[in-house]
Amino acid sequence: MKDRRDWLKSAAALGLGAGLTSRAAAQAGSATTAPTAASAAPARPWQNWSGLQRCQPSQWLQPADEAELASQLARSQGPLRSVGAGHSFSPLVPTEGTLVSLDRLSGVVAVDVKRQQVRVRAGTRLGQLARALDAQGLALHNQPDIDVQTLGGALATGTHGTGQALPALHAELQGLRLITPRGELLDISRERDAELLAAAQVSLGALGVVSEFTLGVRPRFMLRRKVWLEPTEALLERAPELARTHRHFELYVLPFTGYSAAITHAEVAPGSTEHPASADEDVLADLRRLRDWLGRWPELRRWTAAKLVGLAKPESALDWSWRLLSTVRPTRFNESEYHVPREQGLSCLREIIATLERRNEVFFPIEFRYVKGDEAWLSPFHRRDSCSIACHAAHDEAHDYLLRELGPVFRRHAGRPHWGKLHDLDRAALQALYPRFADFEQLRQRLDPQGRLLNKHLARIFGAAHA
Ligand SMILES: Cc1cc2nc3c(=O)[nH]c(=O)nc-3n(C[C@H](O)[C@H](O)[C@H](O)COP(=O)(O)OP(=O)(O)OC[C@H]3O[C@@H](n4cnc5c(N)ncnc54)[C@H](O)[C@@H]3O)c2cc1C
Repeated sequence: MKDRRDWLKSAAALGLGAGLTSRAAAQAGSATTAPTAASAAPARPWQNWSGLQRCQPSQWLQPADEAELASQLARSQGPLRSVGAGHSFSPLVPTEGTLVSLDRLSGVVAVDVKRQQVRVRAGTRLGQLARALDAQGLALHNQPDIDVQTLGGALATGTHGTGQALPALHAELQGLRLITPRGELLDISRERDAELLAAAQVSLGALGVVSEFTLGVRPRFMLRRKVWLEPTEALLERAPELARTHRHFELYVLPFTGYSAAITHAEVAPGSTEHPASADEDVLADLRRLRDWLGRWPELRRWTAAKLVGLAKPESALDWSWRLLSTVRPTRFNESEYHVPREQGLSCLREIIATLERRNEVFFPIEFRYVKGDEAWLSPFHRRDSCSIACHAAHDEAHDYLLRELGPVFRRHAGRPHWGKLHDLDRAALQALYPRFADFEQLRQRLDPQGRLLNKHLARIFGAAHA
């Protein structure tokens, strides 16, 4: 038996070619090029992680405290856009006006171990927070695939992990501090202003700049991860049961192979750790290579993949939650993700697989996750337990079909797009999907009557002229 890292190497034994050794295409470097120490430095161009979104702002702000942030916002040129780690694919950030980075407003302010709450500045990266919590014997309830995002960016777009009983990150918010474009500071708490918090929890950076969050956390915990490959149809049949019986369950459909990778994480009593290196990047490189050789002959591609995948043996790992739930993603891509009502998740996924497998160039795994519903007005999980389906294309290859061909499938299943990932829905379509959309728009107009926070993308979403 081989592990996933080795499965394509066996292709050599089948006489399909030489040079099959996997090589992870590591790409280093940060997407966001922020200025250095000065609070208002000469403008530099900006681009997102995948390189798809770019802009030349007239200035970058990097305030050192809330007072400086408030006064700078009140007098800076619009569109005023907050930027976190630049890990969104949709054009939420680009502006020819002012970019606001909270890199200097980061770190944990206070930890209340008894109440299991943490006050944390919005520029803090998820991984930085996870490590600080771990040192206090605490942990986030759940984490997304990566942990380099800022809290501000992750919460603004409804970032989530997987787990049938676990909501997205913003659902754990107990309060936040919002600086409006006029420089007013709103201190919003769940106890006092539940409605306002529900409005500001997922805001797309369209209400102001959040400077600080109060977040519910829990005692730190260990997880046992299991990863195995299984014929896709058999795994889809078992998916609801696997989701019900594991704290975290997700699957990745490996297109043109007939197989999928299942990943479960179950909470276990603390003990010694055992954490082998992930094989994800190797599998991805091998799927790409298989596409490059056999893409024009889908049947041969499927036959070959099935022979090789069948040789893979299950993997397991044991570690603290934050070390297992988020990993690194060196291979750059563009992505679209929709959240559909849970009961439609598997039928939607089957249609997405069939649609993608009409395109021989596709090789990226399709990610399928479970997320519990919540109350936030613009949460894609608003009052709806959901399944999330994410589709990717290499950053240097065409990705237009993600919108053109998959969009109609997601719409047929009442899918709500991930705000930080590619979608082409306009105001009318979004209004129909979000029962509190009009309420959010009213609040947005009240806090930003001149539309100084709206770039072109947000003007399309909220149907207003941008500043
Ligand atoms: C490799 C990769 C893996 C990913 N995995 C997942 C995943 O597992 N689950 C998931 O749900 N998503 C995932 N994402 C998407 C990502 O979590 C979101 O796009 C997130 O918003 C990125 O955070 P950021 O700090 O980079 O924010 P940015 O992309 O820089 O900004 C996102 C939005 O937040 C706003 N914003 C930023 N800071 C503030 C602030 N202080 N106040 C108000 N608004 C603010 C910005 O204006 C913008 O509208 C992934 C993305 C990548 C590239």
